[in-house]
Amino acid sequence: MAKKIDTALVHAGRNGTKSYGYVNPQLVRGSTVLYPDVASKLAIGQRRREPVDIYGTHGNATHFALQAAVAEIEGGSHCQVVGSGLAAVTVPLLAYLRAGDHMLVPDSVYGPTRNFCDGLLARYGVTTEYYDPMISAADLRPKLRPNTRILFTESPGSHTFEVQDIPMLAGLAHEAGIKLFMDNTWGVLNFQPFAHGVDVSIQALTKYIGGHSDLILGAVTVNSDEDWAWLRDGALQMGAYASPDDCWLALRGLRTLGVRLKAQEEAGLRVAKWLSARPEVARVLHPALPGCPGHEIFKRDFTGACSLFSVVFQPRFSAADVVAMIDALNLFGIGASWGGFESLVLPTTGTIRRTAGTGKFEGELARFHIGLEDTDDLIADLEQGLAALRAAAL
Ligand SMILES: *Cc1c(COP(=O)(O)O)cnc(C)c1O
Repeated sequence: MAKKIDTALVHAGRNGTKSYGYVNPQLVRGSTVLYPDVASKLAIGQRRREPVDIYGTHGNATHFALQAAVAEIEGGSHCQVVGSGLAAVTVPLLAYLRAGDHMLVPDSVYGPTRNFCDGLLARYGVTTEYYDPMISAADLRPKLRPNTRILFTESPGSHTFEVQDIPMLAGLAHEAGIKLFMDNTWGVLNFQPFAHGVDVSIQALTKYIGGHSDLILGAVTVNSDEDWAWLRDGALQMGAYASPDDCWLALRGLRTLGVRLKAQEEAGLRVAKWLSARPEVARVLHPALPGCPGHEIFKRDFTGACSLFSVVFQPRFSAADVVAMIDALNLFGIGASWGGFESLVLPTTGTIRRTAGTGKFEGELARFHIGLEDTDDLIADLEQGLAALRAAAL
């Protein structure tokens, strides 16, 4: 019987309730693994795609526990942890792509992913073409070239939250015999990538899975032996690695993810709805609220939301007015990343780059992450922040 997600979060990557040992997997640190004899070393060297001790860079019991847990909650067969969420994007791209390839990437993609495509990948002879995340099948099909190797998706998009039609895109990718990649960081537990046709799923564990703003880590999950061979062999060739200390912390974060995410989803929705009713706000870009591009797809494909969304202010407010509001907030930290226990805010102006003509809004944007504070306090803080916004616009 398939376990419900809250049960999986508690049990995944552990030895079961009847094992004689500690509740948590051990934190193992190490480089050299010693063998009893040369024959054992030669034999185990053949098993580099399995969770066995070969050498530190191949991972140890701490990595294997986290990899098993993430694979289980993503609904995939194998997972590779790497040193950051960004490495969870770059490692599989390098593992699958070759010089001369073409790749399709949504215009709303995470900025550092775009930097990698336009920088290092371009230098290695890979062409990236950006597409509207809300593209129709009819408009996407002609973009697939004979040398297109990857259809990349990120749903919802960074900063602007367009929810992509992943099953439709998966159908097109597989019809063309290419791979569908998805950055599933926002979905966390609420989008099952493989059930919707994804081949390679990416998660920044830095966000809600870590959950405490104290680690940087990424995970790449696949759902077939063939994809695992591409990913695992590529990761080993690149020396992609993650600290076991961070993996251990991520496992600790994972155990409480269910309750944190539910509480933050609820708090995020309450604050988002409150903001959407304010006269200073033109609309709120939250996938679970109408007015967000792809809201209908969200309702069809996701089981819930996280607490990251953006606000579009009325056009009469300038970027400087929004900065005045943000500076006036006392409970919202000004900083990148998200998924921790604390609320954050970022002005969007100057931080997003679009080249396919998307991402145009009637006013200035700010991105909010709602933490575990009392929402009454957060709303009171926002109330005085909006007063500062109005005062700045006078
Ligand atoms: C934060 C983020 C990443 C990168 O994670 P890091 O661990 O900070 O490198 C990748 N994709 C998305 C969508 C993100 O929000």
